[in-house]
Amino acid sequence: MISPQLQLDTVAVHAGRDDLAELGVHALPIDLSSTNPLPSIEAGGLSYEAMASGGTPTAEGGSVYARLWNPTVARFESALARLEHAETAVAFSSGMAAMTAAILATASGPRHRHVLAVRPLYGGTDHLLSSGLLGAETTFCGPSEVAAAVRPDTAMVVLETPANPTLELVDIRAVVEAAGSVPVLVDNTFATPVLQNPIDLGASMVLHSATKYLGGHGDVVAGVIACGREFAEALRRVRAVTGGLLHPLGAYLLHRGLTTLPVRVRAQQANAQLIAAWLETHPSVARVHYPGMSGDPQGLIGRQMKGTGAMVSIDLRGGFDQASHVTSAVHLFTHAVSLGGVDSLIQRPAALTHRPVAPEARPADSLVRLSIGLEAPEDLIADLDQALTGA
Ligand code: PLP
Repeated sequence: MISPQLQLDTVAVHAGRDDLAELGVHALPIDLSSTNPLPSIEAGGLSYEAMASGGTPTAEGGSVYARLWNPTVARFESALARLEHAETAVAFSSGMAAMTAAILATASGPRHRHVLAVRPLYGGTDHLLSSGLLGAETTFCGPSEVAAAVRPDTAMVVLETPANPTLELVDIRAVVEAAGSVPVLVDNTFATPVLQNPIDLGASMVLHSATKYLGGHGDVVAGVIACGREFAEALRRVRAVTGGLLHPLGAYLLHRGLTTLPVRVRAQQANAQLIAAWLETHPSVARVHYPGMSGDPQGLIGRQMKGTGAMVSIDLRGGFDQASHVTSAVHLFTHAVSLGGVDSLIQRPAALTHRPVAPEARPADSLVRLSIGLEAPEDLIADLDQALTGA
């Protein structure tokens, strides 16, 4: 068992590997079994029942069937839980599968069908909540409206900080206090556990689109929720019956990706800070959206977030036409959705990731979002300069 006192960088490298020496291996093992031999009808059946009701497999009965449990996925979950200061974690086939499970696990009971969602949120989350597809009723509000908007049937408060794509920061502790006994789910995709640990601020669930920084290489689609045992049981129950389990090859890549997460996030952040400061001086840029760029009135950088992250959005003076030019004129940035990988991406959220959002909450037409990667910052600046100047 590794010591709970270790620094984040050490935990990132060692978590979820306690038993490797005992197994006689050094790299993470991958178990691709879709089904598992049953020791006996009774032992298998009891283990099946334990997992279908949200628990873990029994030692006697084993994993039974991969939709219920997979050891490679469980290994990744234990590592991510350590990084998020959570008791445990539950991994899913995508960030949206994780959000779906959180809604079904909390807001599908007869007396608790209401979700309070603090805008802005990722477009897919906003869309899922506003569609009512899962039977929950959602009220959208601002962070200061949470206390007044909580109802007796409110099952969960959802927030994202920094928010996608405007990089607005929300005071997690203040929302947790305003929510009272209602659990708060924080989407920590942009900050990662390297920069922010919402559990320490009172959040009940911490969601990641693991597709982004956790994977970090643009080759896995996944989601994960770090939380306490009770929520984990409810989430696993939903996962077992709806089938949103993460594939073990994805879990392996994510677990391997965690080892370099602190180094990647800090290096990408250093690049983003240089690029945000340079963009602030560019005549084509009306506004740079980057944490701390126009002050930090809530005092959240340092208190809540250990850094400012590697996502930058800009409002272009030339509006849609200029956004259209810039996204096709860049060479090093790829014009693509998603974020958090080692290579830089650029996209215009109003047309893509936030297209399904109601017009009043949709990002401005002139807003372009940059996910800053690990390339040399001077090369990224030169690439943006030629694309912005050419427009
Ligand atoms: N949360 C945030 C902040 C996101 O940016 C995304 C995807 O872009 C999601 C959730 C959904 O994750 P996924 O695309 O892995 O389903």
